[in-house]
Amino acid sequence: MASVESAASEASAGIAVVGASLGGLRAAEQLRAAGWEGPVTVYGDEPHRPYNRPPLSKEVLAGEATAAATALRHRPSIDDVTWRLGAAVESADLTARTLTLADGSVHAYEGLVAATGVRPRRLPLPGGPPRHVVRTLEDSVALRAELGDGVRVLVIGAGFIGCEVAATARKVGCEVTVVAPEAEPMTLAVGEELGRALRRRHEARGVRFRMGRLVAELGDECAVLDDGSECAADVVVEAVGSLPNVEWLGASEGGTPGLGPDLTDGILCDAHLRIGGLPHAVAVGDVARFPNPRYGALARRVEHWSMPADCARHAARVLVAGLRGEAHGLAPFAPLPSFWSDQFDLRVQSFGLPGVGDRAELLEGDAESVEGDVVYGYYGGERLVGVVALGGSKAVALAGRYRADLMELPDGLDLSPSWGSLPAL
Ligand SMILES: Cc1cc2nc3c(=O)[nH]c(=O)nc-3n(C[C@H](O)[C@H](O)[C@H](O)COP(=O)(O)OP(=O)(O)OC[C@H]3O[C@@H](n4cnc5c(N)ncnc54)[C@H](O)[C@@H]3O)c2cc1C
Repeated sequence: MASVESAASEASAGIAVVGASLGGLRAAEQLRAAGWEGPVTVYGDEPHRPYNRPPLSKEVLAGEATAAATALRHRPSIDDVTWRLGAAVESADLTARTLTLADGSVHAYEGLVAATGVRPRRLPLPGGPPRHVVRTLEDSVALRAELGDGVRVLVIGAGFIGCEVAATARKVGCEVTVVAPEAEPMTLAVGEELGRALRRRHEARGVRFRMGRLVAELGDECAVLDDGSECAADVVVEAVGSLPNVEWLGASEGGTPGLGPDLTDGILCDAHLRIGGLPHAVAVGDVARFPNPRYGALARRVEHWSMPADCARHAARVLVAGLRGEAHGLAPFAPLPSFWSDQFDLRVQSFGLPGVGDRAELLEGDAESVEGDVVYGYYGGERLVGVVALGGSKAVALAGRYRADLMELPDGLDLSPSWGSLPAL
């Protein structure tokens, strides 16, 4: 039987952070900022210290930046943190407060931060040309090795990663086709109107699109689409969404008998990022599903680079207060989501949650042109819930002009600390 290295009740057990990427790193820093002086151990299944993923579909894939350049710097306050890298956490017991690693060892903790992010969804199709995804450094380096002048790249999926990979592959000389079922690229994130403007700009730079189509079959050097047409390909990139890494918590023996945390599309948290309302367990980053009072009570995951840091600032204070048996006194977590995406010389900059709007309005620019900046506003009723700018270097400033409007909370919202509570496990 595996031995428990120390009892959870011992003060030395400290806080365990599961996931050694952006969310894990920011959580460790924010625990120190929140006054936690005890041990912090970060467990990560990748062999690397935290690195930055955005360059993996851009500069690293283009060969303009090295893998080493993606390393994330950390604050000196976490110089003493223990990093357990190449150490996958296989299960957690939320009652006994222990983690079991893939090597069978059992580790006690007092407080838990779940920061395990997501992994790429894979296409359930056999065969085909060499197939890639882009999530890790290794993924990006392996795809980079296949790209070059005249290489026929088929990108399946037209979300932000699909569009970024298409742009980068085209930049380095590939013949690129994007296939996706939606009417326009990036529809989920930015709506059809801005998606159309984006597609036209990609097409002007040589990317081909087969929108409204699915891949039915993969042959040796081609894909067969659902209308029977063929699309030649030397390399296939699957960019068809992500799956949250929650299985290790699914094996949890803690909580209400027979009931662990709700792991439907991520780890369900309350409005303070506590897992199942527990005072000693929080989740941050891509894997966390939480209600944001700006957009109603529905809990959502938000896969944006800014989110792990925003989550960590709130969750660390809540967790440290919870471990001390104190009230945290914070209003519910209500971040303003934001993301950017660089494709060719284009920047897409979003603030808010355009996807919760019921209509989009062109606020600035000429949507028909393939040059110049355009800005769309997304409205839920009369309320502005998101703004996206598409353009060059000015896109951030253009979208940023609407930030103050987007920061306004819905009228009559009562933000007591108990808003968005979950029944405790
Ligand atoms: C190619 C790419 C480009 C991107 N570009 C942009 C962009 O331009 N703009 C933007 O806003 N966002 C971008 N993003 C999104 C952004 O990088 C993510 O939102 C961010 O990485 C989320 O950080 P995280 O720590 O929550 O999750 P992750 O970065 O996914 O980290 C989770 C970590 O936990 C590890 N892990 C999982 N399960 C276990 C386990 N059981 N035990 C131990 N460790 C485990 C994982 O291997 C991983 O290392 C991009 C993402 C990718 C992949």
